[in-house]
Amino acid sequence: MKKFLLTIILIGLIGCKTNGQKEVLISKNYIIKKSDELWKKELPNLSYYVLRKAYTEPAFSGKYDNFYEKGYYVCKGCNSKLYDSENKYDSGSGWPSFDRGNDDNLEYSVDYKIGYPRVELKCNKCGGHLGHMFEDGPIKTTGKRHCINSAALKFIQIKN
Ligand SMILES: [Zn+2]
Repeated sequence: MKKFLLTIILIGLIGCKTNGQKEVLISKNYIIKKSDELWKKELPNLSYYVLRKAYTEPAFSGKYDNFYEKGYYVCKGCNSKLYDSENKYDSGSGWPSFDRGNDDNLEYSVDYKIGYPRVELKCNKCGGHLGHMFEDGPIKTTGKRHCINSAALKFIQIKN
């Protein structure tokens, strides 16, 4: 009986360890790590679903879509600098569009959510989902379009 109980306890311990390791693997590349619960508590509802669940805000709905103030944009989750206003342009898509970003803080990954591969853009400090990159940007500059959810960003104004 004693041996039987010990086996049960061991299985329990091994089970917990496996779960723990899985979590570390998922978030090991990001400097900023928080529990899902904490993200949900700290972020506005829409920002939480965009950044942490890769939701896409409806086109023409975001506050930075038709917005051209001088300044820069940081990650709404962790304040890392992501985009400059001078690289923002009107793509007509309904989402804030940039022809380039701050590669020090960007991660280019791939998702297959709608059946074909797309370049997914994430904040490489907290792993927050920002949007996608397409190859239909301005041909005079980079040819790239970083299509970003407003809810993933926070604007910082530069005052002259
Ligand atoms: Zn971030």
